Amino acid sequence: MSKTWRPATQLVHDGSLRSQYGETSEAIYLTQGFVYDSAEAAEARFKGETEGYIYARYGSPTNDMFEKRMCALEGAEEARATASGMAAVTAAILCQLKAGDHIVAARALFGSCRWVVETLAPKYGIECTLVDGRYIENWEKAIRPTTKVFFLESPTNPTLEVIDIAGVAKLANQIGAKVVVDNVFATPIFQKPLELGAHIVVYSATKHIDGQGRSLGGVILSDKEWVSEHLQDYYRHTGPAMSPFTAWTLLKGLETLPLRVKQQTENAAKIADFLAEQPKVAKVIYPGRKDHPQADIVAKQMKGGSTLVAIELKGGKEAAFALQNALDVVKISNNLGDAKSLITHPATTTHKNLTDEARAELGISGGTVRLSAGIEDTDDLIEDFAQALAKVNA
Ligand SMILES: *Cc1c(COP(=O)(O)O)cnc(C)c1O
Repeated sequence: MSKTWRPATQLVHDGSLRSQYGETSEAIYLTQGFVYDSAEAAEARFKGETEGYIYARYGSPTNDMFEKRMCALEGAEEARATASGMAAVTAAILCQLKAGDHIVAARALFGSCRWVVETLAPKYGIECTLVDGRYIENWEKAIRPTTKVFFLESPTNPTLEVIDIAGVAKLANQIGAKVVVDNVFATPIFQKPLELGAHIVVYSATKHIDGQGRSLGGVILSDKEWVSEHLQDYYRHTGPAMSPFTAWTLLKGLETLPLRVKQQTENAAKIADFLAEQPKVAKVIYPGRKDHPQADIVAKQMKGGSTLVAIELKGGKEAAFALQNALDVVKISNNLGDAKSLITHPATTTHKNLTDEARAELGISGGTVRLSAGIEDTDDLIEDFAQALAKVNA
């Protein structure tokens, strides 16, 4: 492992644990347990006196390679791989809280993340205040003596609002709280929350990290101290561990992550510019455009735009459905970050459980669609949107 390598090199080589056979590609260690040379060796392993694996729920070699590669990319000391993004989010939040503690979270969250803080945590006596995270003063106003965790996504799903991570981290540090950032929409290529002052980063690896629609997975990254104090026991004893097979698909995904994210972002930017000029489109929200409402924060904390575009059609739900149904290359799916371009209608899918009022607060209307740009040829995608828009009655 080398600190001087750039991400594209780290993502091909970092963390590799080659066996005695010298395999080129990382091996899949599909084993749930490990054998010891002697009873004394087992005792020493359990006491933590010798390095090594104990049980796959705690850690295993293929997962270790994935975790180490993610640490190198993110600049984190420790990582734990989980079976899904939601297992990562839930573990990262709950492992450090107890009844009586308080969470401040941005209200613009992935639906299941919002359920964890708004519905699940209160069942265990952990209170939560949801704020419009775009404005730092809202975070400050929500602070209580019991506030322990700040939780946010940036850019947000689906309307790509941006939150000032360094600003939130500064507030958290003043009160000794931890900032947990769900960095899925930005990807580890474009945004490094730990460098901006956040304490814990989580990913749904199902998205760009796999990027090819094969596996569900997640990962939690932080420093050694936080992991040993809070996450380690929670992770070992509640069992959100990732399958080694999944870790292997994600290692392969990481190798091509920079290439895919680059092409996806170029496609997203060009489609955003094209759609912004179309008369049937009311609004395009894209973090890479100058007209993004928080372009100054984007410039401060992100190294690139996004692979996602939020589009609002003038003709409401009818137009949004007509557009989706007329698209050919772009598929209708609620997944994102995939090599295939995917479009979804948040109001009737990913955000259908919110009240009309909560949707309106997030800027989700009947005419809103969210595009996740894939790696296809840019012109094929633009031609697809052009022919589909022609079929939409404005
Ligand atoms: C998909 C997603 C999750 C949940 O991840 P899963 O792998 O589906 O469990 C969490 N946060 C964000 C922002 C996501 O897009």
